[in-house]
Amino acid sequence: MSIQVNFFQGGYCTHPQAMVIRGGKWKTETFPSLFALISHPQAGAILFDTGYSQRFFPETRKFPFQLYALTTPVYLQAGESAVEQLQQHGLEPEAVQYIIISHFHADHIGGLQDFPNAKFICFQSAYQAVKSLRGIAALKAGFLAGLLPSNFEQRTIFVEQTDTISLPDEYSIFQTGFDLFADGSLIAVELPGHATGQLGLFFTDVDNQSYFLIADACWLSRAYQEFVQPHPIANLIFANSRDYVDTLHKIHQLHKSNPNLKIIPTHCRDTWMQLKKLPYS
Ligand SMILES: [Zn+2]
Repeated sequence: MSIQVNFFQGGYCTHPQAMVIRGGKWKTETFPSLFALISHPQAGAILFDTGYSQRFFPETRKFPFQLYALTTPVYLQAGESAVEQLQQHGLEPEAVQYIIISHFHADHIGGLQDFPNAKFICFQSAYQAVKSLRGIAALKAGFLAGLLPSNFEQRTIFVEQTDTISLPDEYSIFQTGFDLFADGSLIAVELPGHATGQLGLFFTDVDNQSYFLIADACWLSRAYQEFVQPHPIANLIFANSRDYVDTLHKIHQLHKSNPNLKIIPTHCRDTWMQLKKLPYS
């Protein structure tokens, strides 16, 4: 399958390092918000998440949502949103056919409204967990309802409705895989903990390099490489801290047994520095 992938940074936020990794420094660090463009020979242009968009700023102007912007100050210059960067690469917003949503935090769904023809793919459990939340409950779940397109539900395909497959032996630490396009090219798995129904994605590109996009199952590559958990305070924002540790441990095991698999957390600066060196295809 001749799949090609390109990674982009759709803005970044700052936060103390010690929050995201136990034993880290209390110095403030930058955390990129990555998104991926996956070019599929039949399905066309597919995004995995979108990063931030300028909509984050008006959406976090009022109480209680200013607290979101205060906890993770967001930096996004003109030209850096997903829609603008893809246009610079010659891809018009109308050409994006699908957006796979890892979970519903604002740094992942910020750009959904910019792609008028895209169908959305996510776990139903993820959407169900946030869709009715407003006010403080929404803030706690990192969910800004105003970022969703008004016709979101009509445009959404829930992963639970797609075919399940038994995963190849090397990925079998995850029990169930979902074959998103019924061709074995993009396999979704559930990575619960950070958010309910968080979606991880396996695929192999045209150069036979395999990837595993893990969204926020951990923030830094060192966390899955060495199995290091975040600061206990971070548990406050997790949907389920026991699931978080279980998911992280699975990814750690997967990494140990498949060292060539490229595991991509959304917010790891080291990972982004390595991805940036890849030529744009
Ligand atoms: Zn995130």
